[in-house]
Amino acid sequence: MNRINAPRGTRDIVYPEITAWQILEERIREFYSRFLYREIRTPMFEHSELFQRGIGDATEVVQKEMYTFEDKAGRSLTLRPENTASVVRAAIEGGLFDAVFPLRFFYIGPMFRYDKPQKGRFRQFHQFGVEVFREENPELDAEVVYAAYAFLEELGLKEISLEVNSVGCEECRPAYLKVLQQEARAHQQELCLDCRRKIDTNPLRIFDCKQPGCRAAAATFSTITPHLCRGCADHFAGVRAGLDTYAVPYTVNERMVRGLDYYTRTAFEITSDRLGAQNAILGGGRYNRLVRDLGGPDIAGIGFAAGMERLLLHLEIAPGKDPQICFLACQSADSRADAMKLARQLWRAGYPAYLDYSAANLKKQFRRSDRMNAAFTLVLGTEESASGEVSIKDMVRQEQVRIPQQELLQWLDQRKS
Ligand SMILES: [Zn+2]
Ligand SMILES: [Zn+2]
Repeated sequence: MNRINAPRGTRDIVYPEITAWQILEERIREFYSRFLYREIRTPMFEHSELFQRGIGDATEVVQKEMYTFEDKAGRSLTLRPENTASVVRAAIEGGLFDAVFPLRFFYIGPMFRYDKPQKGRFRQFHQFGVEVFREENPELDAEVVYAAYAFLEELGLKEISLEVNSVGCEECRPAYLKVLQQEARAHQQELCLDCRRKIDTNPLRIFDCKQPGCRAAAATFSTITPHLCRGCADHFAGVRAGLDTYAVPYTVNERMVRGLDYYTRTAFEITSDRLGAQNAILGGGRYNRLVRDLGGPDIAGIGFAAGMERLLLHLEIAPGKDPQICFLACQSADSRADAMKLARQLWRAGYPAYLDYSAANLKKQFRRSDRMNAAFTLVLGTEESASGEVSIKDMVRQEQVRIPQQELLQWLDQRKS
């Protein structure tokens, strides 16, 4: 029969790598509980319209990268390419804006984009992120950014840098976009085909293009900063002051824009200097119109998402040594019942224990015990069974003792301390 492989751009995460994932997830939960964020889990797929309206029809993600399909009833559904639109949808639908306080959520889970797979980039990838609603103070923006930065620092990420910018609002951005369009048209010859199309649909995205010609041209374009309205300028000043108070180092990058359309005012990105082209680890910003655009009340939001695959590339999470695994080796079918009773005691007492049912020779069973990284190999032979004892080999210290079976738990407890 033909072998069936995982779809391109997906991968299996297995032991021991899975341990690093579990540790990372645990640390996200612990860290964000300090800031009163609660976990939210939304469906992996949504009505396609949610992302078209939420992320923006003109974005790369919606135009090229969505996994969209029709279900049997002819509805257009899409595997979520990001989670902000889903969280907003869930908050509106579940009436969370009235029911939950504070309105702070974090999520961890897979996202899906039909992207070109390459090192560290997958079609099913994982993000963790946060969304905070209602409060509009610039100090809140500073806290969200501070927490993101502090989290990466606590994880031990090195050489990270934070860039912030303001991308304006619906009041001041249109005038700036006109200026940008004029400048881009004047440089049309130097732009790649993609960017030429963006002039009319999404000129801000030209700043994101990696082509040398586009980069050179974009470096001459005006930035939004002098075009910010009073409200946006004040807000941005407040964010920077807040970051200073929280003692977060940052630089202002006036050409930093975010890939999704819904951002207003604050935008931020944390990069690592260690990863070359794939250096963005975390990005986000404020979205004051999104809730309303998705049919909800006029409530502001701010959030970010971080790629977990990339985070893990930077992380050296040393999976802790396996806890005190006991490997139970029995020499014959006669001693198996004794071994099963001992195993039951161990499991009930909370010890990880593995019982080898194979009745292979002892040498083989010791090899398996080694491969499992077991701390102790418990041997039940005919002699031990006859005398109600068990032989224990300490696999680390290479010592061996024989004790009565009923003293096993006590013996292990003493070893723990
Ligand atoms: Zn503005
Ligand atoms: Zn370009």
